Amino acid sequence: MTVKFFVLIATIFSLLILENKFPFFSYQNSWLSRITNNLELGVINSISSSLLTIAIAQYFSFDGLHQGIIATISSPVMTGILSFLIIDIYMYFWHRSMHVFPLAWRFHRLHHTDRSMNISTAYRFHPIEIIGSSIPKLILIWWLGISSNFVLIYELVFTVIVALHHSNLYLPASIDRILAQLIVTPNYHRIHHSQIVTETNSNYGSVLTWWDRIFGTYRSRLDLVNIQLGVSDEVRDLNIWQSLLLPISNQKYQQPKEVPEEDV
Ligand SMILES: [Zn+2]
Repeated sequence: MTVKFFVLIATIFSLLILENKFPFFSYQNSWLSRITNNLELGVINSISSSLLTIAIAQYFSFDGLHQGIIATISSPVMTGILSFLIIDIYMYFWHRSMHVFPLAWRFHRLHHTDRSMNISTAYRFHPIEIIGSSIPKLILIWWLGISSNFVLIYELVFTVIVALHHSNLYLPASIDRILAQLIVTPNYHRIHHSQIVTETNSNYGSVLTWWDRIFGTYRSRLDLVNIQLGVSDEVRDLNIWQSLLLPISNQKYQQPKEVPEEDV
């Protein structure tokens, strides 16, 4: 927990400095109110997911009672690689399901209502989504017998990459493109935050970009600086209460439908 907290704080401060020194988008909508709301959500999510992890870890007794298939592999390197890939592919399908099922989209939509992107966008999630993603993930980890050390390694990488790809950091296109062969980069993820539905429903990866390429949800775009961020039917700057109540608000909105892939 201490290592994770240190990495989180170091990541936030490093990217905060970098994205202000080398910004991709020169303008940020309602910077102060957005960052306040996003960080409040981040604190709520961090407390609720920590309590949930402790409760589930105690119930299932990680590293103790269950010897899943991963725990039977003798090579630690192979075990580590497989553990990483399994958790990341789980995150891919979880994220994709958030866009496919109407009830799930009601919660995940909050993340997409940010009308600009910066480091704080990485923490703009509804607590129900965070809890909902954590329960099956922790049960999967327990069932497969993935060691808590490998879970920690994934979470450290996840913390850095998710913060990076939500940040407003400018990376030269060539470097971004090379990195995106492996990991989710800022340019790669900006397309996912586009108001254009076919772009919203693409680039679901959390750490690795391979799953989008394998399962046909990868999209690219050249004029990234012209992307309209957010969702077209929500133009408010939400406060914390509006954010928490967004899934049950009566406001009419469009459920983005997955459509066949087209080349851009
Ligand atoms: Zn999404």
